[in-house]
Amino acid sequence: MKWRGREQSSNIEDRRSQGGGGFGGGSPFGSGGGFRIPTGGGGRGGRGGMGSLIGIVVVLGLVWLVTGTNPIDLLMGMNGAPTSSSSSASSSQAPASAEQADLRDFVGVVVKETEDMWTGVFEANNQTYVAPTVVLFNGQTQTGCGTANAQTGPFYCPQDQKVYLDLSFYDQLRQQFGAPGDFAQAYVLAHEIGHHVQNLTGVLPKFDQLRQTMSQEESNAYSVRVELQADCYAGVWANYAGQENLLDNGDIEEALNAANNIGDDTLQKQSQGFAVPKTFNHGTSAQRKTWFEKGYSAGSPGACDTFTGNV
Ligand SMILES: [Zn+2]
Repeated sequence: MKWRGREQSSNIEDRRSQGGGGFGGGSPFGSGGGFRIPTGGGGRGGRGGMGSLIGIVVVLGLVWLVTGTNPIDLLMGMNGAPTSSSSSASSSQAPASAEQADLRDFVGVVVKETEDMWTGVFEANNQTYVAPTVVLFNGQTQTGCGTANAQTGPFYCPQDQKVYLDLSFYDQLRQQFGAPGDFAQAYVLAHEIGHHVQNLTGVLPKFDQLRQTMSQEESNAYSVRVELQADCYAGVWANYAGQENLLDNGDIEEALNAANNIGDDTLQKQSQGFAVPKTFNHGTSAQRKTWFEKGYSAGSPGACDTFTGNV
């Protein structure tokens, strides 16, 4: 992606120098990671501040995977094993590296480009786009939806209208999920911003209400539609990035590869050897690619009605 030298968003909140400890000694979470979300099924009632995070996890269709692990936004399928992990250790180190500074600038540009596009889209519909804040953190951080840590993965919290991103996720995207490339990273971000758009348009509040009366299976199915719409919105943004001449050869393929590799079926097969469709809450690899492509081809959010008919 041709992002260097472009204007950056002013809505980036960099918390990476905060959090006290955590430097040089491994994650403040040590092993085992701050909180573990109770395994699906029974563990719904939140304890203390966890309740709201669990709530949002459901809202966004974030899973705590079948394996009983962490909630992640949408993206990480996350295989269990949240322990020790070098990834969590590295996440708490050195925001000062050139690579990290570069990433921060990259995020700033991508967010700015999403702001420009969505501002235009909302204006065209006589609405006002209120941009979300994107919080960069490492180690752990407090959110309107509970405590986030490196293993939480990128997510959007409707309560405070912020996207939370630990930049170490991008290493994980490349290594664990086999999705290298800056446009894979841009896709992840544009997807999260898509959830913010859904919050503004009422999609998330509606889901939050509906799910109260839904079975887990129904809720999962609805979550898939929410997630696929966010993928479609990311595709719409990719189209916009193309019009802005920001795309390099291979960028769209990078996004599609990422969408493929974080599909529910692919992640479940990877982590447990088989897939259980009724537990899917983000969509299959094929669905995620399809909806990204629909948004990309159309270049308009009008193409992103994932709530009608089959997806
Ligand atoms: Zn999502």
